[in-house]
Amino acid sequence: MQNQWLLLSDVRLVDGTRNKASEPTALLVERDRIRDIGNVDDLRALVPRADQETILHVEGRGRVLMPGLIDAHCHMTYGDSMTQEEQDIYTSVESRTLRAAFNCRRVLRAGVTSISQPGGSWYIGVALRNAIAKGMVLGPRMRTAGRYITTSNGLTDWYPEVVGVPDSSIGSLANTPAEMVDNVRRQVKNGVDFIKLADSPMGEYQSFTGDEMKQIADLAHQLGKQVTIHARGSAEAGAALDAGFDWIMHANFMTDEVIEHFASSKTPLVPTLLLLANAADFGALVGTPVGFRDGCRRMLERTAETYHRAHAAGVVFALGTDSGFALTPYGEWHARELELLMEYAGLSAQEAIAAGTTNAARTVGLEGEIGTLEPGMLGDLILVNGDPLQDIRVLQDRKNIEAVFVGGQQVTFDGSEEQAWANDRAIVYSTSTLTYETAQQGEAQGAVLEDWRLEHRLAEEISFTSEAKEFAHEVTKIGRSDAQADH
Ligand SMILES: [Zn+2]
Repeated sequence: MQNQWLLLSDVRLVDGTRNKASEPTALLVERDRIRDIGNVDDLRALVPRADQETILHVEGRGRVLMPGLIDAHCHMTYGDSMTQEEQDIYTSVESRTLRAAFNCRRVLRAGVTSISQPGGSWYIGVALRNAIAKGMVLGPRMRTAGRYITTSNGLTDWYPEVVGVPDSSIGSLANTPAEMVDNVRRQVKNGVDFIKLADSPMGEYQSFTGDEMKQIADLAHQLGKQVTIHARGSAEAGAALDAGFDWIMHANFMTDEVIEHFASSKTPLVPTLLLLANAADFGALVGTPVGFRDGCRRMLERTAETYHRAHAAGVVFALGTDSGFALTPYGEWHARELELLMEYAGLSAQEAIAAGTTNAARTVGLEGEIGTLEPGMLGDLILVNGDPLQDIRVLQDRKNIEAVFVGGQQVTFDGSEEQAWANDRAIVYSTSTLTYETAQQGEAQGAVLEDWRLEHRLAEEISFTSEAKEFAHEVTKIGRSDAQADH
C-alpha cells in the first residue's frame, strides 16, 4: 500500500551541496516530494491529525541519508553480456525484454534510483521506461535512447559488410544526412527521450561531420528531444559541443580549447571510466583478453591527463558506468565510478557525490527535481551505513545501502535481485591459434591459458584449494609476460 507520509528521523544528511554530513536531523516526505527538514516533532506537527497513524516512520539511528544515485550511462538491454555478438545477435527480443525488466531491481538494490539508457536494442528501453513509470515493473526512474545512430565508420557498425548492422543490434546505420534525419524522425515517433550517436570507437577520427551533427541536434531539439554522443576524441567532442549536444559521453582526449568550450557551455561530461577500469583491474579474473586489458589501462592513463585538465577548467562531471556488460553487471559497480572520478579526474568526495546526483539529473530529464536534499525535491533517497564524504567506497558494498526510497515509497527487496540471468554467449572455439609449436610447448603457453572457459573450469574443479590460488597466480603471471612480449 502506498503511504502518503514518510518520516525519516535521526539521519545525517549528505548531498553534493554539503562538504560534511549534517548533525542528526529528520526529513519529511509528503506523497512523492520532500516537505521539510528539521526537528522530528516539528515535522510530525505538519502532518494532519487524521494522517498521524499512517506515517511511515523510519529511524535512521544516526545513518547517512543521501539522494538516490543517478547513473547516466546504464544499458538495460545488454543483459550482462560477455561478447558483442551476445548484445547484438544471440539473445532473442523476448528474452532480452524480460531480462531487462528483471535486472531493473538489481540496479535499485544498489541505491541507483534513476538511470539514463544511451542506446539499446529495439525499443525495449521505451517499453521499460513506461512500465516502470506506471508501476508495472519495479525499477529506477528511466529515460532512454533507441539504437545508436552510426555511420559505417562509427562504433556499432563492427560486423563485416555481409552482416551489416542487423535490426537486432544496438546500432542503426545512417550514412547520409537524409538517412540520419529519417532515423531521428522514426526514433522520436517510437517514443525515445533522446538520440544517441556513435562516433569512432576509440577516438581515432570524427565519423560524423560537424554539419551532420548540427542537423541531427537541431531536429531532435525541434521535436522536443535531447541528443548525446559516444565521442572519445577531441575533434568529435568539439564538434558535438558546437552542434549543441546536451551531454557527451567519454571525451577521453581533448585540447585545451575544447575543454574551455565544455566548461563555458556547462555541458555535462559523462566519462564512464568504470568499464575501462574493471577490465584493466579485474579482467584477468574473468578471462578478458590480455590485449583488451592492456588497451584499457593505457586509455585510462592518457584519459587521466585530459580529465584533470578538464576538472581544473571547471567542466561538469556526471556519473555513468556502462553497466550491462558481464564486466559491469547491474547493481554491482555503479558507485565505483565515483571513486574513479576522484582518482582519474581529481574530484573531491563532495564533487563526486554531485556527479552522481545533481550533475546527472539532466540526462534523466529531472534537472532541479532530484539530486539534493531540499524541500520540493522528489523523495528519491538512500539510507547508508558509513559516510561517503569520509570514504566514497562505502557506497560500493550493497550491504551498506540499508534502505532505498523512490518518490517517498520504500522499495522492498525479496532476494530475487541477487540472481543473475543465464548468458547467450557467442560460439568461441578458442581464443588463440593452436600451432604445432604451441602444442609442443604445452600448458606453459600463456595464450592457451587465456581461454576463459579453461580458467572457469579449473576454478570450478579446484576452487578454494591452495593449488588453485597458486595456479591462478601462475596464469596471471604468464598472461602478463605474454602481453609484454607482444608489445
Ligand atoms: Zn555505453
